[in-house]
Amino acid sequence: MRRLPVIVGALALLLSACAHVNSSHPSTALRMTTTALRMTRGKIRVATTISTLNSFVQGVGGEYVSVKNIVPIGASPETFAPAPQDVATVADADVLVENGAGLETWLDRLLRDAGKPGLRVVVCAQGLLVKYLNPHLWMDPVFAKQYVAKIRDALIAADPAHSEAYRRNAASYDRRLDDLIGQIRRQIATVPPSHRYMIVFHNAWQYYNDRFGITTLGFVERNPGQEPNPQQVAQLIDLAKQHHVHGVFSEPEYSPKILYAIAQGAGISVVEDLYDDSVGTDPRVANYIAMLTYDTNVIVHALK
Ligand SMILES: [Zn+2]
Repeated sequence: MRRLPVIVGALALLLSACAHVNSSHPSTALRMTTTALRMTRGKIRVATTISTLNSFVQGVGGEYVSVKNIVPIGASPETFAPAPQDVATVADADVLVENGAGLETWLDRLLRDAGKPGLRVVVCAQGLLVKYLNPHLWMDPVFAKQYVAKIRDALIAADPAHSEAYRRNAASYDRRLDDLIGQIRRQIATVPPSHRYMIVFHNAWQYYNDRFGITTLGFVERNPGQEPNPQQVAQLIDLAKQHHVHGVFSEPEYSPKILYAIAQGAGISVVEDLYDDSVGTDPRVANYIAMLTYDTNVIVHALK
């Protein structure tokens, strides 16, 4: 009984506040309600394992999705270890987009810990031909088109009300990928065939190179987080000399120290930086298409 006046008082205050919004700013109240509804119910929450896949989800989902990536920008998915906030990200998601093909060795446990029955999981590389046990299929933009198609189908299944928008966005992103493929082909064609050899930091470039006619001569890191032994370093130096390689390519997520040793041994330079497992924070590399455009410029400039 003693609490009643307080409750009544609070109720009166609330009613007067509502009346105030409704009477003087009806459009504001309506807009706030619509925004709140979209934030809580309308947007499909998508978690992606690596930031490179965000571009595909954002391209297809547009305004109807909110995307979070698990491996931070600039970090390596091969040596990543999930933290408690990553469990929360997965538990909170409607759709999870992973690469598959053995890239995310930490994901099974993360999914178990998140314990989210009904979570839609999209395995982008599923059904594609995985060569040399190499998971970096997204680096071939022809395969990226398959990634986009899988993401489109998953978003349509999760949110049929916006299926038309997802189809339209996916078709438009697909055309942008076609343009990108044409652009890369034209640029690589300007490099003399005898110069189309690369030594890279880790083997992220196999599919890109296979698609565009570049030979991957070697890579510095054979297993995630493992530096080459002196014999392997000597081998890379020999290969670089044999094929008159112009430079070895570094990546922002890895220490290029060993690259400098190889470059010095072969009398060539270190080319900084190629982006592959992660996009960058610089707008020039902040999404997939920008990233591959930038990388191609770096490669073509270095190989010529
Ligand atoms: Zn990688």
